[in-house]
Amino acid sequence: MSATENPGRQSSVVQRLAAPHSGPVPFSVEFMPPKTSDDEARLWHAVRTFERMNPAFVSLTYGAGGSTRERTTRIAGELATTTTLTTVAHLTAVNHSIAELRGLIGAYAAEGITNILALRGDPPGDPLGEWVEHPDGLRYASELVELIDSLGEFHVGVASFPEGHHRAPNLAADTGNLVRKLRAGAEYSVSQIFFDVEDYLRLRDRVVAADPEQGAKPLIPGLMPITSLASVRRMVQLSGSALPADVEERLARAAGDGPEEDRAAVREVGIDLCTEMSERLIAEGAPCLHFCSLNFARATSEVLERLGIDTRGALTPA
Ligand SMILES: Cc1cc2nc3c(=O)[nH]c(=O)nc-3n(C[C@H](O)[C@H](O)[C@H](O)COP(=O)(O)OP(=O)(O)OC[C@H]3O[C@@H](n4cnc5c(N)ncnc54)[C@H](O)[C@@H]3O)c2cc1C
Repeated sequence: MSATENPGRQSSVVQRLAAPHSGPVPFSVEFMPPKTSDDEARLWHAVRTFERMNPAFVSLTYGAGGSTRERTTRIAGELATTTTLTTVAHLTAVNHSIAELRGLIGAYAAEGITNILALRGDPPGDPLGEWVEHPDGLRYASELVELIDSLGEFHVGVASFPEGHHRAPNLAADTGNLVRKLRAGAEYSVSQIFFDVEDYLRLRDRVVAADPEQGAKPLIPGLMPITSLASVRRMVQLSGSALPADVEERLARAAGDGPEEDRAAVREVGIDLCTEMSERLIAEGAPCLHFCSLNFARATSEVLERLGIDTRGALTPA
């Protein structure tokens, strides 16, 4: 169905990727539900800054095990109804019964959300800890894709993992799982943040080889301009991964050997790295660049500006 057939509904992500965009490639931005009113003000500043740049879509994460259930639903609804942005709400299955998941999907629909990123989620507290299935819940994200699709006219995306998911026994099993989620009805995937473009390209090749039809669906790379070495080290560790040695080396050199890392120098290198990765991904035909903003607009805007995307003066002091 084209967006014009039902003008009251939000476009799907796939429709938005095909829509006109400024610059060499569509881009999208991920936000997190804010915890405090100060956080919320920062989120909305970032939202309005990116809105002027016509992103293909924005997405909003869902806290582990339902910890941000109300905030994610409310903010996703506000994004969908009070901005011009196509909004993707994340939903995780962990710690929820199927009845609760049905309720949450209904709550998204009531807020005008038709794009959902279907995830299994990690155990709350320790993302690398033992995964315990809810007795009346779902085991895998592929089942959540099916549940969402069975409840109405939704557009569902899933997660992909350029380095392989940390619980998958090997890359072949991980690729098989992504193909399973796409066959279950997912229209696209958004990848885990990565720092070696080769990992993304090899994943794309594996999916195409495993199932050309599913391989034709958009595999959207997840990117993040690094602004702190300590934070990025913590983040990759929590996802069961590590920074590539050359990236670690460049950042460590910028950080210096003082008691505190040189944040300005690290940020400069982080933005260079993200721009270089983006340029390579554009040259390799990536369908979109998805930026994890952590609710900050400036670092991502700097990358976008360097890529020739119209940032509408976002970097000019008011
Ligand atoms: C873009 C993106 C956004 C995210 N957003 C959030 C968020 O908002 N909130 C949050 O809490 N977390 C989020 N996460 C983290 C995500 O929930 C975790 O990475 C989680 O561990 C995996 O979720 P999944 O949906 O990929 O799970 P699944 O696809 O279900 O995979 C989980 C594991 O099970 C294996 N598996 C799946 N199906 C089968 C099967 N049939 N048989 C055997 N093994 C199988 C897979 O290989 C994998 O190892 C996000 C991750 C990404 C990449």
